[in-house]
This record gives sequence, C-alpha cells and structure tokens, in this order.
Amino acid sequence: MRKFDLVVVGAGISGGSLVFNLLNQGFQGSILVVDRGDALATGPTAFSAGGFRNLWTTSINQQLCTKGIEVLKRFHEDMGVGCGFHQSGYLLTYYAQSWEKIPQASEIWRRNGVNFEIWTPEQIEARIPGLRCGVDHIDPEVCEFLGFQPIVGGVFGCDCGAFDPSQAAVGYFERACGFVSKPQIELNTEVLAVAFDHARRATGVRLKSVGGAEEDIEAGIVALCSGPWTNNLLKASGLPDSDLMPIVNQKRMLFITDFPDSDPRWQDLPLTIIDQGIYFKCEAGNLMIGKAKHDAPDSLDTTFEPDYYVDEVNLPMQERMPNVATCKLKSGWASLYDTCSADHNAIVGWHEEHPGLLLQVGYSGHGAMESPAVGICLAELILTGKYQTIDCAPLRWSRFREGDLVHEKIVI
Ligand SMILES: Cc1cc2nc3c(=O)[nH]c(=O)nc-3n(C[C@H](O)[C@H](O)[C@H](O)COP(=O)(O)OP(=O)(O)OC[C@H]3O[C@@H](n4cnc5c(N)ncnc54)[C@H](O)[C@@H]3O)c2cc1C
Repeated sequence: MRKFDLVVVGAGISGGSLVFNLLNQGFQGSILVVDRGDALATGPTAFSAGGFRNLWTTSINQQLCTKGIEVLKRFHEDMGVGCGFHQSGYLLTYYAQSWEKIPQASEIWRRNGVNFEIWTPEQIEARIPGLRCGVDHIDPEVCEFLGFQPIVGGVFGCDCGAFDPSQAAVGYFERACGFVSKPQIELNTEVLAVAFDHARRATGVRLKSVGGAEEDIEAGIVALCSGPWTNNLLKASGLPDSDLMPIVNQKRMLFITDFPDSDPRWQDLPLTIIDQGIYFKCEAGNLMIGKAKHDAPDSLDTTFEPDYYVDEVNLPMQERMPNVATCKLKSGWASLYDTCSADHNAIVGWHEEHPGLLLQVGYSGHGAMESPAVGICLAELILTGKYQTIDCAPLRWSRFREGDLVHEKIVI
C-alpha cells in the first residue's frame, strides 16, 4: 500500500496554499494531492470573481484578509508568477438605515489599520459612470416594488481589489513542485472515502482513478480542501451527521457584458456593491456582474441561467444605472459557494472528533481571498502544533457544538 505523510483532497487555491506554505516552512514529509478534475483548480476557484477586501465586521476575517492582501500583493515578486493582482478598491454603498452603523464600524476598521474612505453620493456618482444615488428618476411604483432607496453614502476600501484565484492556485502548485520533497499530484482521481480507525483517527483515503481502478492509501494526515463536496465525501466515509459541517452548497452565477459606453472610468472600476447585493467590476475590458440568489437551494447544480441576468440582475441594475440597459450579455457561468449556514465563515483546523483530519472548507464565498493566509496558519499548526501568524481558533469545527459562532455581517 502507498503511504504519504499528508494527503490533500482538492487542488484549488486552498489546497495549493496549504501545500506550498507547508513546504516553504520546512515540511520534509511526503505529500499526495488528489483532485477529480483533469487540471489544477477546476472547481469554484476557477469561477470566482476573485475579489479581496479587508472591510469585515469580524476580527478573524479582517486579520486573514489583511494578511491575504499582503501575500497577494507580493505574489509575483515572491513566487515568480503573476496572480492578476489589481488593487482597484471596493465600494460598498448604503441606504440610510444601514449607514447609521458605519460610524461604529469605522471605529473598528480604524483600530485595525484598515485603509478606507467615506464617500458622499457626489463622490460615488463621480467615480461610477451613470450611477445615480437618488431615486427621483425611478418610477415610484417600480422603486417601491424593488425596495430601492436613495444611496446616502459609501465606504471605499482603498487596499481592496481583485485577482485571479486560478493563477494563484497554479502558481502555488508550480512553486511547491520546486521543493526537494515536492508533492505528487494525481488528477482525474476521485477520493471515494476517508478511512478512519477505531479511535476515529483519519488514517488514509480510498482512491478511484480515471480507469476505474481503486486503491487504498495510508496517510498520516488527511487534509480536506474539497469545497462543496466535503460533506458528501464524509458521508460516504461513514461519518454520522453530527460530525459533518453545517454547509449548504449554493449556485452562484457571474455575468460578463460589454461596457455601456467608452467612458474610461469603466477600466478602473472598484468592485462596487449596490442595491439588492448586485456587484460589478471591470474584467479584462468587460463588466463582470454578480448577484446572489438568496434562496438558492442546497444543491450541486451548476446550470447557467442567462434569464436570471435579464430578469433579476439587469432590470433592477438599470434603474440605478440607466446606462447599463444597453449592456449585452457576452458570457457567464455558474459555480458553487460552500456556505457555512451557521455563521457564514470558513471551517479551519483539526476536526476535534477525528484526529488527523484537517479542514479548510465552508469558505462561504470568501475562500479565494482568505486561503493565502489560512495556508500559512495551517502549515504552522501542522509543523509546530499551534497557530503563530494568526490565531484561526475562532474558525474551529467545534464552534458549532459549543455555540461559539463567529457571525459575519458583510457577506455578499
Ligand atoms: C461565482 C463565485 C464568485 C466568487 N467570488 C469570490 C470572491 O470575489 N472572493 C473570494 O474570496 N471568493 C470568492 N468565491 C469563493 C471562492 O472561489 C472559493 O471560496 C475558493 O475558490 C475555494 O477554494 P478551494 O480550493 O477551497 O475549493 P474549490 O475551488 O472548491 O476546490 C475543491 C476541489 O476539490 C476537488 N474535490 C472535491 N471532492 C473531491 C473528491 N472526493 N475527490 C477528488 N477531488 C475532489 C474538486 O474537484 C475541486 O477541484 C466565489 C465563488 C463563486 C462560485
């Protein structure tokens, strides 16, 4: 039987960050990375908007993203490969009621060294082409139906922006392969189950290769970086429901359109969030637009729905920005959020009921920006037994049993 010190399930950005950072911190053991995809990063990592921000309401998200931004900013220099890092900012816009909470949030951001500006409606309109903060131009019935109100202000995160998570994932694996104890990467290979011994310790995995051959592998540690497929894998491994994750898998779509006009401001657009959680940014000379379907069922379905763009995204958006009425849908895609239904935060660290089982899952739509920092912290945990750079204990699996949740209020 083949034996590895570490088996990583999932070759997305979180698996890449874990493997690279372990080797970078001096791990000498053998590593096997397994993914059922036919290339690195074929899961949600490849379909992400790649936004990063340090504007959060919880300290752990703020710390992880501040560190993550630091890593991504230096990625090209440190890793020798680019990751499409572009610090074009994040603009969160607010109606009157939620705007009242901004002074309090600002205090926390200031204390944590977050670089941000408060913008007036005039400043917002000057930066975002065609956006009208008031609602006088909207038919009152439509305005009421949509629940639109005047935008009374915005928070601009100066250090925020977007990058390409797939490029970063591939960069992590490429650099990992430059170490003497480089990982063995097996694609087109499915992990059918994690094996556990009588003491509930994870001891290995059962693999199925593309030809259908099955193989048992012995492992010192099994790291799950397996995104939306984690609970299915653990169920297939015989774990009771009480040991699973409170994760629901939800379809999320992104739409690519042309720009409405030739205004040069489109090219340097911050990732902007407006009414009903509609967000948009510049994506290689196009607009990338998203809006969460909040009632999306727990499912692994990724069927793309162009009608959703026409009816639920473009129609409300053109009330706020009449110029986008002419935008043509060029392409788009659907992928999955592994949403932690308990508190919208990742599940990171050892599974307290199963020694040897390491978790980096349930990222709830912020895994691209957080995994560069989490990989550093998990590598420290494996090598030294404790977190050093950032204490990720608030994200432990057992927080659900202990009722010690980490509620994040700014989720998109
Ligand atoms: C539309 C959309 C927009 C997003 N926007 C942002 C954003 O702006 N900012 C941000 O930070 N995050 C964003 N995210 C979330 C982010 O993309 C994810 O949190 C992140 O990519 C998770 O990476 P990962 O490596 O943990 O997992 P994944 O990318 O989900 O990879 C998991 C891998 O595990 C493999 N796998 C799973 N089970 C098995 C098995 N049994 N056997 C073999 N292989 C297996 C899969 O094939 C897959 O490759 C977005 C996500 C979506 C869908």
